[in-house]
Amino acid sequence: KLPYTVAFADELHADGIALARRLFQRVLLHTDPDYRDWIEEADGICNRAKVIPTADLKASKRLRVLSKQGVGVDTVDLKACREKGITVCNTPGINAEAVAELSLGLALSLSRRISELDRRARAGEVNVATTVMGHSLFGKTIGIVGMGNIGRQTAEKFKNACSCSVIAYDPYAPQEAWTASGKGGALPHTRVNTIEEMLGEVDILSLHLPLTPSTKGLVGRAMFDKMKKGAILLNASRGGIVDEQALYEALKSRTIYGAALDALETEPPTKEAYGTNLYTLPNVLITPHIGAATHEIQALSARVVVEQLSLLLTG
Ligand code: NAD
Repeated sequence: KLPYTVAFADELHADGIALARRLFQRVLLHTDPDYRDWIEEADGICNRAKVIPTADLKASKRLRVLSKQGVGVDTVDLKACREKGITVCNTPGINAEAVAELSLGLALSLSRRISELDRRARAGEVNVATTVMGHSLFGKTIGIVGMGNIGRQTAEKFKNACSCSVIAYDPYAPQEAWTASGKGGALPHTRVNTIEEMLGEVDILSLHLPLTPSTKGLVGRAMFDKMKKGAILLNASRGGIVDEQALYEALKSRTIYGAALDALETEPPTKEAYGTNLYTLPNVLITPHIGAATHEIQALSARVVVEQLSLLLTG
């Protein structure tokens, strides 16, 4: 076994933990009574979404690698890691299919009012719901902000499953991001130079960009005002990118048709939040950050987190 101590700061799939136990001399789980030993002993940390306090990072004695499951590193104090010489790695791309699938599911559920009508049918409120209508996705236009791994897969899913046209904005994406593949041939997606350019065209606006100081609150009132009345917003990226108060007002006033959110500014939401704002609106669908929450993806990415950690510690 490799002569290292590895700590799991968060819940990771059992396959990853089993691999770590095969590879490393000591494995500490965040649920172990002696977990805090990591500060003295851990050479590596496996993490998912836990915020490791800066003070703990600074106090760590041996930590060299922080291997994080998922894409976003906004939960990691990169500056503190840099100062301590701790290498940070993540698992980009692995969850792209799963998040894209969820985005399609959210759009279908919201447009066809699936979860709303499931609730109402169970309550005996609706029977044969011929009077309750949703909207078809077929042939609609989706606008994608951020054509990275997830944005590109999402474009493909909507195009192939529902014959949607794709308009996309990403000032940094490489050329290949704009060429659609799969069923329907290699028609390029329409590329725009500003988000505003596409707002009046799209029926679905789907966000797939990172949360950074410059994208915080990016999608707000000015954008909602320019969108179609029947448009929906999908956010399976990061909560802070959407101005939630402005979204609430846009939904309440029916400036846009609905929103499906897998990411919120405050996660998990506070108990009080359930009675307020977005949670009270019928045209909102909220899922608790489940974009990558499939058995397949969790098992695979937990193994990759451990493999990367081992490579970086030994290499
Ligand atoms: P990625 O790095 O592959 O792609 C992000 C893309 O956003 C890049 O192409 C980049 O050029 C682009 N971008 C950056 N700033 C932009 C801006 N201001 N305007 C437009 N585009 C911009 O990342 P990814 O794997 O595709 O992930 C996308 C987002 O999804 C991230 O925010 C990530 O944190 C989030 N995510 C959510 C879940 C979930 O469970 N809901 C799971 C994984 C990732």
